[in-house]
Amino acid sequence: MSASNGLVIAVDGPAGSGKSSVCRGVAAELGMRYLDTGAMYRAMTVAVLAAGVDLSDEAAVMAVAEQTVITSRTDPSDPGIWLGVEDVADSIRGSDVTAGVSAVSAVPGVRHRLVGIQRSQVQAARDAGIGIVVEGRDIGTVVLPDADLKVFLIADPAVRAHRRALESSPGRPPEQESVAATHKALLERDAYDSGREISPLVQAPDAQVVDATHFTLAEVIEQVCALAAGVQR
Ligand code: C5P
Repeated sequence: MSASNGLVIAVDGPAGSGKSSVCRGVAAELGMRYLDTGAMYRAMTVAVLAAGVDLSDEAAVMAVAEQTVITSRTDPSDPGIWLGVEDVADSIRGSDVTAGVSAVSAVPGVRHRLVGIQRSQVQAARDAGIGIVVEGRDIGTVVLPDADLKVFLIADPAVRAHRRALESSPGRPPEQESVAATHKALLERDAYDSGREISPLVQAPDAQVVDATHFTLAEVIEQVCALAAGVQR
């Protein structure tokens, strides 16, 4: 049994708010597992794009999804994602995948399939007495409405865009156009994810809002760990 004692933390929020870094940090700090559900939707998008399917054709997208086996590893220091036996950790970050993932994840059958896998992974962690931090868009609202702690992680869009653009140009300041293009793409993806009919990105009524705009990664990790320490079970 780990120190986290089967705690389940759901972290939702818009694109680029720092969910992955924060969740991995919290999971590592508290000896918990970590599940990146966005990576699963991205992996499904890799499969759909590879099949050459029109992303607006729901039935065709679903037909690919039904044949697709996605596996994710939940070690926060070394998370991984596979399509069948293919390691797709790098390809899921491609710009074509980022541009297409919102359309693929709006297909109800795709969500149904992936939510089933997500819940099984959380149950496996619970059964092992190990906590898990799960990040996504609908974790606190749909996937795990009974999570012990729900965090809605936000940050000013300009800050999110700047941080994302920095990630793509390590070691040097990002070009102004790159920040502007990233800003536009983030807002478009948020609008698509928030406006869809099924499982939209929305703050759960019982979620705690953490605003990362003016804090370092270490400070945000500390804030979420403090919230976890205050959970009554
Ligand atoms: O978190 P990330 O940016 O990698 O997520 C990629 C996309 O996957 C999101 O923009 C959203 O369309 C979809 N997603 C989702 N539900 C989740 C996680 C991600 O619809 N739980």
